[in-house]
Amino acid sequence: MKEKILIVDDSELVHQIFTAQLDEADYKVVHAYDGIEAINVVFAEMPDLILLDVNMPKINGYQVCRLLKDYPATKEIPIIIQTSKSTAVSVADPKVWSFETGADGYIDKEEELQIVQYIKPFLEKREKSKTLSKQLKSITEIEIMTALSHLLDKQLYVNVTYLKELNERKNAFVANVSHEFKSPLAAIKGYLDNMGVGIYGNVSAEQEEVLKMCIQTVNRLNRLVSDLLDLSKIEAGKMTLNKQEVDVRILLEEILKTYAVIIDQKKINIKKELDPRLPLIMGDKDRLMQMVINILYNSIKYSPEHGVLIIRLKLETAQLRLEIQDAGPGIAKENLDKIFDKFVRISAEKREGTGLGLPIAKDIIALHGGRIWAESEEGKGSKFIVLLPIETNS
Ligand code: ADP
Repeated sequence: MKEKILIVDDSELVHQIFTAQLDEADYKVVHAYDGIEAINVVFAEMPDLILLDVNMPKINGYQVCRLLKDYPATKEIPIIIQTSKSTAVSVADPKVWSFETGADGYIDKEEELQIVQYIKPFLEKREKSKTLSKQLKSITEIEIMTALSHLLDKQLYVNVTYLKELNERKNAFVANVSHEFKSPLAAIKGYLDNMGVGIYGNVSAEQEEVLKMCIQTVNRLNRLVSDLLDLSKIEAGKMTLNKQEVDVRILLEEILKTYAVIIDQKKINIKKELDPRLPLIMGDKDRLMQMVINILYNSIKYSPEHGVLIIRLKLETAQLRLEIQDAGPGIAKENLDKIFDKFVRISAEKREGTGLGLPIAKDIIALHGGRIWAESEEGKGSKFIVLLPIETNS
């Protein structure tokens, strides 16, 4: 009996070209002109191979392929997807996506191809594993759409569950590795500090310089490790807040004192506009401090010498509004949201940093029920705005 090939394409010309070649090689050819018709022709004819176009009315070739590969009675039928990069509207790489949807082969329509030669190995393989397949009942367009939507749901569920699992595994890995780094780093820092103060013998001026650089590097590594640990904690939902009454004005003053030296060195002009009648807020003092430091230290880092850095604190409808505004290089509009994503570092001049400061700040604010955003224009400085709800103890 002649082997049966189904051509699925909305172009009559493609049907004619393939049919001519397949007729000559003594195959029986059957035809379908859209995705819905294709499924019913497959059910009725049970072809030995399907040549499937992608861009068709109603449902596209990828969806037809997914459905047929999901039915036990049709999943063994080899499907060769044929399309071209230039007409593929929905995916960047149609070849990769074809195999992703379950296709057995891929033909680029723009390439010269001996179709008969190409399909032979698929038919030989099919012949070996072929079981007697009976016709299936025809199926309506609505039934096909329903089956497709169930299938896509099922696949989405599988993919999302898998991605979540991968993400959890990655988080656990990052947390473990960071944890393993902590003790050796503490030991190295201890030895370097001891060496610096002369516990292991006199230190020359040159050695002191080198030690200083080593200590700075270890401090940077420590910051990265604790940022990574914080982030894994937040992502695993394990960061808990130790809430108490916090005076954000005092908190700001404390932070400014810590950074007095660098502010002085860069001759940054700090302008404070702090409303004196602000209520206390309920929050985790250490975490709020970490959040403000992450934002403020960036503003200090990006401020030019003699730049004005404004810190505003005021009440805004039962929320505390904190603004930190610098005269730095600013941030392009399209990056204003991205900078709150993990590991994103935009600035062309790569200053010291990990790309974790703002995401951690954002998570801390979210844990407090607040929100953060940035306003900026390139070359015109940046403003970070934080809103924190004022909760009462009652
Ligand atoms: P890091 O500062 O460690 O790179 P952050 O998460 O704190 O990471 O910031 C992410 C990016 O956002 C920075 O690399 C920088 O490109 C941009 N950014 C943050 N604050 C400012 C600012 N005040 N001025 C200009 N760019 C900023």
